[in-house]
Amino acid sequence: MKTMLQEKIETLQRAGLYRRMKYFESPQAARARLGGREVLMLSSNSYLGLCSDDRLKQAAHDAITRYGTGAGGSRLISGSFDLHQKLEKEIAAFKKTEAALIFNTGYMANVGVLSAIADKGWTLFSDRLNHASLIDGCRLSGAKVVVYNHCDPVDLERKIQSHRSGPGLIVTDSLFSVDGDLAPLPALVDIARRYRLLLMVDEAHATGVLGQSGGGAAEYFGIETGIDISMGTFSKALASEGGFVAGSLPLVDYLANAARSFIFSTALSPATIAVSRAALAVVRTEPERRRTLAAHSAWLRQSLRGAGFAVEDHPTPIISLVLGEPSLAVDFSEALLTDNIFVSAIRPPTVPAGTSRLRINLMATHSREDLEYALERITDVGKVLGVINSTEASDE
Ligand SMILES: *Cc1c(COP(=O)(O)O)cnc(C)c1O
Repeated sequence: MKTMLQEKIETLQRAGLYRRMKYFESPQAARARLGGREVLMLSSNSYLGLCSDDRLKQAAHDAITRYGTGAGGSRLISGSFDLHQKLEKEIAAFKKTEAALIFNTGYMANVGVLSAIADKGWTLFSDRLNHASLIDGCRLSGAKVVVYNHCDPVDLERKIQSHRSGPGLIVTDSLFSVDGDLAPLPALVDIARRYRLLLMVDEAHATGVLGQSGGGAAEYFGIETGIDISMGTFSKALASEGGFVAGSLPLVDYLANAARSFIFSTALSPATIAVSRAALAVVRTEPERRRTLAAHSAWLRQSLRGAGFAVEDHPTPIISLVLGEPSLAVDFSEALLTDNIFVSAIRPPTVPAGTSRLRINLMATHSREDLEYALERITDVGKVLGVINSTEASDE
């Protein structure tokens, strides 16, 4: 077995797809410590910059003082605390739904929901670039899975017409972490209504980031009531851990009794729940963080385009610089690291072959000077590596 695994590892290494972990020595903030030096963090999902927020840290301290550390049991046995119930009510209010249910991770929420709702009599229509947890949930359900072209309602409708039989559900990320683009939610709501399909939306990257009150992309588009199953995480902008599902009371009631990833896992600790509640309060009371993030995104996208990079326009804090081969993405990332900028290279299997890239994740706590420095260094490295023309950008 050892040699078999060693061969698999070497195959990954030869293809430039072998990945190594990097170990940080500080909170996940706009400036982080890595290998004993300070780097400008441009690859964090902590979009609102809350991982080192004093109020969240205090909430964890207070919860540990009052409730101790571990939850001690699964939610249906002995691991549900009043904190869990309060957070679920707050999520329902935040998402304007009847009810909500906390899962231990977003991954577990997606796997649990899809496998509890659908079975082999169902048809699941899934966006080609959906997150792995949605793909795994579709597979685990045993339902027929029909993959439609990325963000393409016309292809979706065609496939519904030719594959539909029995109950069905459309499932999509709202903010895709690969390209930083948004699903065409208004069109999906319309299609779901016309064909009497359920619509499930994964708001992992949009929660706390998009919409007037941070509710996500559905709020951004003003179509919240068209979503049957709204899923999100506490692990990204909310700087905590856990996933959630918001929807009708029967949906939540059923999932609590049927979703295996909910039932057969120890509840999240009181401290984690307390941090999520404190983060939600910040999302409610500090909309300026979302405005700063949106302004950062618009400025950096425009500036990168001015420097000659092909960057798409999306109202999101994820900016994708598609480079092509994995080695180019890795070289680019390593060159930036020598300038103390941390931007990770995203490679297959996370993205399709030939579309390896740098992915920039902005934070509300970045300063304009941080972004100016990043722009200057990215432009220089882009010229050295031949990604952009070295004359084109000279007037930038
Ligand atoms: C991160 C992510 C998840 C998983 O959430 P975790 O809480 O990290 O397990 C699910 N879906 C999408 C789209 C994600 O980006």
